[in-house]
Amino acid sequence: MQLSAETRLKAILEGTGAGTWELNLDTYEVIFNERWAQMLGYTLDELNPVSFETWERLCHPDDVRAAHLALADYLNGNSPQYECVLRMRHRDGDWRYIHTRGTLFNHGDDPDSRWLMGTHLDVTEEKLVQNQLHRLAQSLPGVIYTYVVEPDGQFHFPYLSRKTEEFFGISAEQARANPQLLFDTIHPDDLDRLQASIDESARTLNEWVCDYRVVVGDQVQWVRGVSTPEQDLDGSITWHGVITNIDERKRLELELQELSITDELTGLYNRRYMLQRLEELTAQQERYGHPFSLISLDIDFFKAINDSWGHPMGDTVLRTFAELIEHGTRKTDVVARTGGEEFIVLMPNTRLDDARHVAEALRIALESETFVSDEGEDFTVTLSAGVVSWSPGVATVRELLSQCDRSLYEAKRAGRNRVVIQGEANQNA
Ligand code: GH3
Ligand code: MG
Ligand code: MG
Repeated sequence: MQLSAETRLKAILEGTGAGTWELNLDTYEVIFNERWAQMLGYTLDELNPVSFETWERLCHPDDVRAAHLALADYLNGNSPQYECVLRMRHRDGDWRYIHTRGTLFNHGDDPDSRWLMGTHLDVTEEKLVQNQLHRLAQSLPGVIYTYVVEPDGQFHFPYLSRKTEEFFGISAEQARANPQLLFDTIHPDDLDRLQASIDESARTLNEWVCDYRVVVGDQVQWVRGVSTPEQDLDGSITWHGVITNIDERKRLELELQELSITDELTGLYNRRYMLQRLEELTAQQERYGHPFSLISLDIDFFKAINDSWGHPMGDTVLRTFAELIEHGTRKTDVVARTGGEEFIVLMPNTRLDDARHVAEALRIALESETFVSDEGEDFTVTLSAGVVSWSPGVATVRELLSQCDRSLYEAKRAGRNRVVIQGEANQNA
């Protein structure tokens, strides 16, 4: 069954709940439909006789001017249609937000007449929610935002709350117009890590969390971004999130890290604590003549492990190796992670030969361990070790450590996956 154009138009208007209006731009004659009046709590009869003043009288005085400006923009060709949101007085006294749109058309019977025809939609609910969101965003101690990355790599911020300016030194409007400006404020040392974490979140669709520094003028502040990604049908990814200032907390954390004695990744002692204990041991050695030894362990080709199996797998290797060392040494030994893939074991009351046995056992333990990559492939890892003991000829801790380094270097030079003890290195060097 074919519906007449009029029936269809009526159905559409009823379906959308839109009021309609027509305005003759020369005579200012107006025509409203029944729904137009209902939207403001009247019947059309109650408003009759309707005129342009009816609209002006019901419109919020501050918005009349905005409407005229929007109309001028349209008539001058600066915007594709007449469009604005106005407040209009409802019969019950409330202001309603009315989204009004219009376009020019000619009445068929008079080609010279200029008529503007348009619709009214009540968007009060949406406007109130929007206002609430704005107020909420204002009272939040952070920036809330929406970030989108398109399949072709283009990115933008459809929404950024006002606090953007306080955090990044540029306004939300500026950052929306040129999203790169926000990335330009990020500390150069943090940029790669931040980008990698966004890529990771895009790939896995896991929550994005990243602490990074923002530089505004000569001010550097730590912030934390947390947001949830979702993938749209077209492949673009949208994150909704919040950025908070964690500067004070972060500085405290870094200070505490400075004071700490453990290595975060493995739970072993850190380099500073190891050096402190080494100083103590040397002092004791001088007083009581107790022997002690030192093993320096360095994983072979560790960079290649990261490169082949990924950094997280590299971390797993480090943790597993840390457990092997703890398992293979005594409670009184001090086990420390002193660098990326470098470990030192301080062994009080231990002679060189006993320390060498321990080092050799650790070498075999690591060599015998089978690791399984995320892709399910098996691989093994080896280490090189240098072993030294305190001897009366050694004057300082620094000297002892460099002797140990020389042994380790010799183990690497001789082909890796081996233990070299003091003396052997000196002979071969
Ligand atoms: P060599 O046999 O000569 O010791 O070679 P190598 O590759 O083990 O030594 P190199 O010093 O060239 O590389 C060490 C690598 O360790 C480089 C660095 O990216 C990585 N690394 C440092 N710290 C960490 C960490 O905490 N986790 C992971 N996964 N890798 C780390
Ligand atoms: Mg190394
Ligand atoms: Mg190494």
